[in-house]
Amino acid sequence: MKPSIVWFRDDLRVRDNPALRAAVDDGAAVALYILDEESPGIRPLGGAARWWLHHSLTALREELDSLGIPLLLRRGPAAETVRKTTTAAGAGALFWNRRYGEAERTVDAGIKAWAREAGLHVESFQASLLHEPWEVTTKTGGQYKVFTPFWRAVSAQDFREPLAAPAKGHGYTGGLPDYDELDSWHLLPTKPDWSGGLAEAWTPGPRAAHKRLAEFVDGGLPEYKEGRDRPDRDGSSGLSPYLRWGELSPFEVWHALGPRRSESAAVFASELGWREFCWHQYFHNPQLATANLRPEFDRFPWAWPEVSGDGGHGHSGHEAAAEELRAWQQGRTGFPLVDAGQRQLWHSGWMHNRVRMVAASFLVKNLGIHWQLGEQWFWDTLVDADPASNPANWQWVAGSGADASPFFRIFNPEAQRTKFDPQGKYIARWIPEFGTPEYPEETVDLKTSRQDALEAYKELRERL
Ligand code: FAD
Repeated sequence: MKPSIVWFRDDLRVRDNPALRAAVDDGAAVALYILDEESPGIRPLGGAARWWLHHSLTALREELDSLGIPLLLRRGPAAETVRKTTTAAGAGALFWNRRYGEAERTVDAGIKAWAREAGLHVESFQASLLHEPWEVTTKTGGQYKVFTPFWRAVSAQDFREPLAAPAKGHGYTGGLPDYDELDSWHLLPTKPDWSGGLAEAWTPGPRAAHKRLAEFVDGGLPEYKEGRDRPDRDGSSGLSPYLRWGELSPFEVWHALGPRRSESAAVFASELGWREFCWHQYFHNPQLATANLRPEFDRFPWAWPEVSGDGGHGHSGHEAAAEELRAWQQGRTGFPLVDAGQRQLWHSGWMHNRVRMVAASFLVKNLGIHWQLGEQWFWDTLVDADPASNPANWQWVAGSGADASPFFRIFNPEAQRTKFDPQGKYIARWIPEFGTPEYPEETVDLKTSRQDALEAYKELRERL
């Protein structure tokens, strides 16, 4: 019997995996994962994401082993690598779950065309999003630009029940082409190994994902509506990296909430909706990470300092902004909520959503630095760094995005701290030196920097 290849991408799980199910139903499954850093337009993973991927693939291998399905790891441009592997394995079929980035879709369409030509059975499935971005359209057939009607349309659908893991005994047992050792990809940091905090905070893989989901549904969910805004408590689910890597599917999370929803559960479900909305935007605007969705912001006078790796000076007269950007990255702006968030991010690869909003607003509005530089920093440091949610949220904060927070809404990091960390527990956890002379002085004046930002925005509007 010819092997059927299931090509894993952002769906590193065996449960609720329609492509895997199809490969198993077809006969003898072989799993393939490709580290593709070469195809045009593919965004290379950041450091924290590479760490996660290493452990996630280790977990996937364990799950596949228990089903008797071999996992082939290959590195290279996906089109060529799939072609070579499929041919060398003598496969009769190829299955995958869809991806929604433009560059990825181009690669997939090319492979599909090749596979059909080569006489292979090739099929793709919906698994990573609750909606297909081209199917959910406004009355005039366009993309949604406002969240509420978008989510009303999406959440009115009936989402399929998650699929169980396939039964054992359907893996291919014949000879296989060469494959890479995971360690040879060097996804883990060495000199220095900065990943200790990540390992303390996270256990990648579907088993930990399901445990966290179950604990959240039984524990945090009833209080989520209020708890989600409190960085000093474990008020949110902490599921974002698992969803990012597909160790958990949105269908599994949706159905875990049960049919009868409390208000808190509905709020939580709508956060899944924001994830969908970010992907909807990304599907329709592939340049989401590099171009303002509202082009009038192209003329906003944001600074674009360059921070050199040696901690040296910025270029082109931007020394002050370069130093401010560095202080923001390192969590020493003198504003404790921003600094605590940035330190949490550096240590654990994750930051609480409320603090992400405050830290981002501070960068783009008080420091006047371009949102893309913040987006790039998050891309490199978040374990949940997501090609849609990261830029979409940065644009939301900057005011340049779809259904964005208006530019004039400038978070006051001190007022936010008093409101959302009233006993100072979050600050104490991440800034042990807070309140001592070692803690840095404030890098900007909140009032004047706020006025400057509003003035720049006013000028931008006047020129429209
Ligand atoms: P919960 O509150 O428990 O929410 C449940 C799930 O809903 C999350 O796991 C996530 O998948 C989704 N979700 C929640 N809020 C959002 C949102 N605003 N946008 C999109 N999806 C959401 N989220 C990412 O997954 N990846 C990113 O790269 C990312 N970058 C961000 C950058 C900025 C500047 C901001 C303000 C937000 C960003 N977010 C990103 C959204 C949000 O902060 C995280 O999804 C959330 O903090 C994850 O924690 P949680 O799983 O406990 O969330």
